[in-house]
Amino acid sequence: MAERIECATCANVVCSSEDSDTGPWNCPTRTKKGAIRAAVGEYAKPEIRAFARQASIQEFECYMHLPEGVTPRNPRVEEIAQFAKKMGYGKLGIAFCGGLRKEAAILDAILKKRGFDVASVCCSVGGVPKETIGIEQDQKIGGPGVWETMCNPIAQAKILNELGTELNIAVGLCVGHDALFFKYADAPTTVLIAKDRVFGHNPVAALYQSESYYKKLMREDR
Ligand code: SF4
Repeated sequence: MAERIECATCANVVCSSEDSDTGPWNCPTRTKKGAIRAAVGEYAKPEIRAFARQASIQEFECYMHLPEGVTPRNPRVEEIAQFAKKMGYGKLGIAFCGGLRKEAAILDAILKKRGFDVASVCCSVGGVPKETIGIEQDQKIGGPGVWETMCNPIAQAKILNELGTELNIAVGLCVGHDALFFKYADAPTTVLIAKDRVFGHNPVAALYQSESYYKKLMREDR
């Protein structure tokens, strides 16, 4: 049988316990010792260790221990600012989709008020026409013959690389364009907004409704 790693459907989640070696037969905690050893080796590198450690501290600080129970306290944008401070970063980059320009401007204002040097680059930077990547006239959103600028995540990344940003923040980049940005960006990138044109950039809403109004998501492709 082909190798199958299926944490998402695991019926015996022990990896978050002290008995992490007692998972299912195909549990990667048991079967992928080499990869796990290699990963732990990466955390031994001082800069990676500091990054991972501060991320973990950030996670810890996101909860309040109230009499009625543990309660989260910070929206993601606050977390991003706090994490960047913890890391001692001064230069932040925002890679945003033109459809979320207002949101990018608000984020820019928030981060500047918190003392960061912020650069922001729009996806249409460069004004390169979609024909450049082989888009046909009938594949244009506005219809045949209309000028359309391609999303240019590689340029977004290269510009932020030139500026020496220390942490980038993705704001509403399209599916695929975001992946290219991550691939080409020198600095680590976190996501503030994952684009979802239907659900107000809250893509998990589709999963929550996949047994009701969005059952179509569960259809089988043949
Ligand atoms: S790592 Fe092992 S125990 Fe944890 S979810 Fe995956 S299969 Fe289950």
